[in-house]
Amino acid sequence: MSQERFRQLPSVDQALRDPRLAAMPRGLALRAARAVLTELRRALAEDPELVLPDVMERIIAEAHRQATPRLRGVINATGIVLHTNLGRAPLAPAAQAAIAEVAAGYSNAELDLSSGKRGGRLDGIRGPLQALTGCQDAIVVNNGAAAVVLVLTALAQGREVIVSRGELVEIGGSFRVPDIMAASGARLREVGTTNRTRAADYARAIGPETALLMRVHPSNFKMIGFTERPTTAALAALGPPLVEDLGSGALVPGLGDEPVVGEALRDGAALVCFSGDKLLGGPQAGIIAGQRGLIAACREHPLYRALRVDKLTLAALEATLRLVLAGDLDALPTVRMLRMDPGPAAADLAGRLGELPAPWRLGLESDVGFTGGGALPGEGLPTTVVALRGGDVEALAARLRRGAPPVVARVRRDALVLDPRTILPGEEERLCVALRLALSAEMGQ
Ligand SMILES: *Cc1c(COP(=O)(O)O)cnc(C)c1O
Repeated sequence: MSQERFRQLPSVDQALRDPRLAAMPRGLALRAARAVLTELRRALAEDPELVLPDVMERIIAEAHRQATPRLRGVINATGIVLHTNLGRAPLAPAAQAAIAEVAAGYSNAELDLSSGKRGGRLDGIRGPLQALTGCQDAIVVNNGAAAVVLVLTALAQGREVIVSRGELVEIGGSFRVPDIMAASGARLREVGTTNRTRAADYARAIGPETALLMRVHPSNFKMIGFTERPTTAALAALGPPLVEDLGSGALVPGLGDEPVVGEALRDGAALVCFSGDKLLGGPQAGIIAGQRGLIAACREHPLYRALRVDKLTLAALEATLRLVLAGDLDALPTVRMLRMDPGPAAADLAGRLGELPAPWRLGLESDVGFTGGGALPGEGLPTTVVALRGGDVEALAARLRRGAPPVVARVRRDALVLDPRTILPGEEERLCVALRLALSAEMGQ
């Protein structure tokens, strides 16, 4: 009986002769046919009564799935500007162009064009960072976490780093201050309490084993009530070098109350670490800026070679920093999004969508969005959204995610919510097409 059922499946060779599959690259068609047929044989072995799907259609769908790159662009309709799952900061056109130029050919990554001698990889980054933050020197590594690991390893391995108990934080996934400290071989010396730590607590803990004092910005939570935290200036006055992990590291004031990089350095921090793709709005990177001697120690540590960034990141970061330096902040998509009033864009989007097929109805609603990416916690972004109600919103959200282009929306109770804040200029029409398709596919069910 079950043998007979297996014979209802085509062989791999038979499947490959289907003209729709024969038109595809052979390796791809073969992998797809094998994957689907193996899966169906296993399913039949488990359940001989199984109703077989259209096998060829299944194989062709699998081939298309395999032919589609895994990593691709999506439309972010969540309103969350720095959405870590969606790749954080979209880059400014100038940064995109800079990547395209150095990616397509050779570049002077490590060549000084005027002397013809070997040049520094970071020559294009240092100047803008010095001008923007007042730092003496700076280096760039793969991300904010790598920046902290490098600083602790190069400057405090085998010695003590004094941190407030209120700052032993988890930033997300595997970045937890005590674990990062352990991984770098530095000894954590906790002081103070969860809610209150004073400069005197750090002062008492300073001894011959002290390598650094560290302050960690509480990026993704807020403590309110009976709390106390010494200022940068008070800690910097204690003697040992003070390292501040700023997280988002706004380069210019005015983006909520995130600490500003230049202010931390002016207040006496010896080094600061911050991410390139949070409020700075550039590529994924970790920037370490501050005193020349400490930066040199980080650069000379063997770990730096393993953590440094490639030419594409450097190109995008330099272009991003130049925009900030020129005061052209609205050229940075993240800054423009954080500052915009989405009201008019929401009305425009609702107008483009027009009438929806029953049972769906659409309306404009006030809502609160988020910055995301561990920046500006507790500071909701007042926004206007297009809300779709009347049908199965979870199913619609899933269809949108699986569409082309994929659209990621927010689900809020019984509504599917599209926040125009994070929809990039030029994406509106593709979003409307994707939404109409998702709604009509639903009708077809
Ligand atoms: C985000 C953050 C990090 C990690 O930075 P990544 O660029 O995500 O690696 C480290 N410290 C703080 C305080 C942060 O906010």
